Amino acid sequence: MQTLRTLEALEREGLVTADPLLAAAAETMAIALTPEMLALIDRRDVANDPIARQFVPSAAETRIAQEELADPIGDEARSPVKGIVHRYPDRVLLKPLHACPVYCRFCFRREKVGPGGEALSDTELDAALGYIRARPEIWEVILTGGDPLMLAPRRMAALVEALDAIAHVAVIRIHSRVPIVEPSRIGDELIAALKPRRATLWLGVHCNHARELGGPTRTALMRLADAGIPLLGQTVLLAGINDDVETLDALMRALVSVRVKPYYLHHPDLVRGTGHFRVSIERGQALMRALRGRLSGLAQPTYVLDVPGGHGKVPIGPGYLGDDPEALTVEDAFGAEHRYPR
Ligand SMILES: *Cc1c(COP(=O)(O)O)cnc(C)c1O
Ligand code: SF4
Repeated sequence: MQTLRTLEALEREGLVTADPLLAAAAETMAIALTPEMLALIDRRDVANDPIARQFVPSAAETRIAQEELADPIGDEARSPVKGIVHRYPDRVLLKPLHACPVYCRFCFRREKVGPGGEALSDTELDAALGYIRARPEIWEVILTGGDPLMLAPRRMAALVEALDAIAHVAVIRIHSRVPIVEPSRIGDELIAALKPRRATLWLGVHCNHARELGGPTRTALMRLADAGIPLLGQTVLLAGINDDVETLDALMRALVSVRVKPYYLHHPDLVRGTGHFRVSIERGQALMRALRGRLSGLAQPTYVLDVPGGHGKVPIGPGYLGDDPEALTVEDAFGAEHRYPR
């Protein structure tokens, strides 16, 4: 079984029915649905299935709202050389390629990812590494894309080695969806490539629903953790997929139980044609408030917004301090207010 990459292939699987609006939607972004994810879809109710909704195109993608942006998080404005985004002084993003194992319909880089977008050439990668080498303030390099774990193990090993050779780079962080959606790629050779000799390597995995953590995915995550790689979880808050307390509770517990520490819950970005996935910030805060009372601290992500225009991420979770000028009050996780001395 291969990754499904066309509307016709999805139609043959009974996941869509041909329709001109859907064809128009499919033109705006490549399609990819891996066999592992296909196997998790509940065929009895594809329209509401939290796995199908993430990867199967929908006619709703043709609806573009006025506030939606081609570059929702302002990467372009912060890119000094091709493949690098430098927004915070101490860390840069390095994007070695644009390909992904799946194409998530809500992707914040929806206009950039896809098989048409080339990987950095050797010369371009050298220039990007040169940029990092010349700036001692860069403490951390975050590999993202596209999906860096789509690189062949040999190329991944060479990249990790090149970064490891830059003495001021203390941390190499990789953000990937591969271990979740195409765990068969997590083989011995790739794991061996993720072992810098000097720097520390962290891996953030993108997972939006507990159902994504099926058998092969759990095995891949356990192998990565056994190899000594600390694992972080990133989740996008998505309407109709995970925007209710029970689903988020189950997801965060499932992540912790496979040794993945929930890191960020991302408020969905203002990506063109993704209005059907958007949740209000008020709703996101209410969900975070509900999680606080019922989940271990280990399982609490930080709810963040990437401020449109390239201004970076800020936590937007609920506040627990009152604004009474006379006395400081603090609300506990169960809703009761308490005084605290100023
Ligand atoms: C998200 C992001 C980072 C990483 O932010 P953390 O809060 O450290 O996870 C770094 N640079 C850019 C440009 C980003 O968008
Ligand atoms: S894997 Fe990540 S970068 Fe790729 S389509 Fe999904 S959200 Fe976008």
